[in-house]
Amino acid sequence: MMSPFVRFPTIFYIEPTNDCNLSCIMCPRKKNGKAVGYMSFDLFCNVVDQLIDQKILQVSLHLTGEPLLHPRIAEMVRYAKKGGLPYVRFATNATLLNEDSAKDLIESGLDSLTISMDSSTAPYYCSGPTGKDLFAGLDQNVRRLIRLKNRHGSNFPEVQMQIIRMEQTQGLIDEFVTRWQGIADQVTVQPLLSWAGHIKAPKKRGRRRLICMNHLTQGVVQWDGDVSFCCLYIDSRGDSEGVLGNATHTSLEDIFLGTRRRKIIEAQLRGNYDAVPYCKNCPDWNDFLDCLQTGEPHTL
Ligand code: SF4
Ligand code: SF4
Repeated sequence: MMSPFVRFPTIFYIEPTNDCNLSCIMCPRKKNGKAVGYMSFDLFCNVVDQLIDQKILQVSLHLTGEPLLHPRIAEMVRYAKKGGLPYVRFATNATLLNEDSAKDLIESGLDSLTISMDSSTAPYYCSGPTGKDLFAGLDQNVRRLIRLKNRHGSNFPEVQMQIIRMEQTQGLIDEFVTRWQGIADQVTVQPLLSWAGHIKAPKKRGRRRLICMNHLTQGVVQWDGDVSFCCLYIDSRGDSEGVLGNATHTSLEDIFLGTRRRKIIEAQLRGNYDAVPYCKNCPDWNDFLDCLQTGEPHTL
């Protein structure tokens, strides 16, 4: 009999692209062995249709790239919302959030937009000259979005300003929170994630290991249709170790209720955390419990 814990996930990440116009120091992209590409609109619609049928709760349209680089991102949101997905969000670095894209997003029905940097944090995230010219206008891009939203008489997308707690930003956090409180709908301080040990991050507290909630609740579809079990999976060795299947030729139901995922979940429930070598030394499974304890949302 199948374990009652093996259910279709309720939270999905769909990756419109793994391309980005920046190169942040805490970003896992540079460790990713996967080719850079953009999801086709047909594949996107196929995936979303299945998620609508499965009545999932939330879709995040980002993974390891900048969603606003995808020329059809607003159309993607519109398709997902029209189809009935209850909560659609994504995270952006806001460099491409100009007047047109802001209007498109407001009209698309997007529920929430996480903005992962502002002009004070960007220079610490992005070492080197790459984004310097882009940074000056970041705050203006965010403020314009909020202004347009108000003018449109809409509360959506909710704007969440986010700062990552790390050595370089520790001294900026209070000022960041004060600056955006009352302007953004939400201001969050996120822990630095290690992406299963690929990025150097502060040590987590020493808990007895438990099953990772991501295995139970999350599904991920990468730009080329590869499906994995966690938003922190990157194909660092180019061996597709964490890929459960591919959505271009297999249904998501077959992938997520299939033998491979069932075995992973059952192994973890038995305390065999080596069943997925990628997860073996990952400390990030702690974050879900940390968030429950601190009450801070965890919003990759
Ligand atoms: S903006 Fe996001 S995806 Fe792009 S390099 Fe920075 S962290 Fe990575
Ligand atoms: S253990 Fe780490 S890599 Fe594995 S599913 Fe959990 S968060 Fe993801």
